[in-house]
Amino acid sequence: MGRTERNRRPRPADEQAAAMPPTGRKAAGLALFLAFLVAATLAAGAEIPPAAAAPPPAGRTPAAGVGPASGQEPAAAVWEGDTAIAGRENWQKPWLPDLRNPGRRIEVPEAGRIDVVLLGDGYLAEERDAFAEDVRSWYAEFLKLTPWKQLCGVFRVRGLWTPSPSRGPAAEGTYYRVQYASQGLTEVQSAETRRALYGALGRIGINEARLSGHLTHTVVVMLVRTGPGPLRSPSGCARTLASPDGKTTVRVAFGAYTHHEFGHAWAGLGDEYINIAKPSASRTTPARPSILTISNLCYTKDPLLVPWRHLAPGGPLNPDPGSVIGVLWVGGVREEGAWHSEARCLMNGRHDNWDLQKTRRGASLRDPQRFCFWCEEIAVARTWLKTGQLGNAAGGEELWEKWVREVRPLYQKAFDVAARIKGQNEANARERLAEAKIYERPAPPP
Ligand SMILES: [Zn+2]
Repeated sequence: MGRTERNRRPRPADEQAAAMPPTGRKAAGLALFLAFLVAATLAAGAEIPPAAAAPPPAGRTPAAGVGPASGQEPAAAVWEGDTAIAGRENWQKPWLPDLRNPGRRIEVPEAGRIDVVLLGDGYLAEERDAFAEDVRSWYAEFLKLTPWKQLCGVFRVRGLWTPSPSRGPAAEGTYYRVQYASQGLTEVQSAETRRALYGALGRIGINEARLSGHLTHTVVVMLVRTGPGPLRSPSGCARTLASPDGKTTVRVAFGAYTHHEFGHAWAGLGDEYINIAKPSASRTTPARPSILTISNLCYTKDPLLVPWRHLAPGGPLNPDPGSVIGVLWVGGVREEGAWHSEARCLMNGRHDNWDLQKTRRGASLRDPQRFCFWCEEIAVARTWLKTGQLGNAAGGEELWEKWVREVRPLYQKAFDVAARIKGQNEANARERLAEAKIYERPAPPP
């Protein structure tokens, strides 16, 4: 049947992306790692005014509280040898917004800086300028998204130029040997790909911070340049790739459009679309959440366990009882037994989604302009964790409690979450989203 046909397609990012980031599976050594970062933060000196940190470039002024203004296209990427550099002014001295003092910044030591390395596969020798433009445009899109635009001071974004002998899966192949067909990427983890990718990381130089062999402060984005026609934009995916000697792993986002995949690769966010029907017994929502495993997907309707219950209608953050933010929208890779928090999000997509009225399949519910509020919060919390801002608690559960108790209220204020929810409620009301047939309202807590 149609469903089965659809399920034969490659499944970009689904299972692996729904999984937690490797840090979630390897908590051993976490405390040591965080202690190192905290010590480095203290050594670097605490808060500094914006003038002492990297100043915004001319024409770009700090937005209220949370970093540089969005919506301004960065200038062309600058070449240094074969490295195309984007947004240098934001990361030469890494920083995060100071949530306690809107408009100010917290200096982050270089040990906490996050490397985003853009590699290009399938770019021909004469397409060096096109690659630089793609690096620039990737960064311009990055800066349009909350929370990346507010957090951009810790992300060092660079592209490394390497030409390919041919465009696609032809006999001579591409430099990184990413394989694709009309349905999507088909092979991204071959020995050739891993060898070339780790060779590139050695050439460009990265933050080597690691936990149990996993590079915690580096994410690779592989821009796959394909030919015109049906192969124009294969669906992407996010994977963890091991080095040829097996000692190191790194998260990699693949595709032509990779900001959704970057959400998987850096923030550990899962796919909110429906890809298969069956519920999964292996996925549960824990009673005591951990920052290492907290998910944008939820596998229970128990109102005490839904992790985004603070966003639900009727609460102080979202007082409108008719709001459809923070309710239970159907789907999260699986259709049955999985929910997410808003109708649309950058982490949603097409696949087997129902349309809002539940009349047909294949509806795209991706919002390319924004993460839902819950995905946004998880992305901020994980960035806070990895840059050493949550301190040195023993484990992920304590760290999540600290986030909820101490940092979340500051984040909500600095990022203007209540006002933005109100604005989104108004937009949702204009679209009559409350009439959709693919969500439920959570039961009131007992
Ligand atoms: Zn989301």
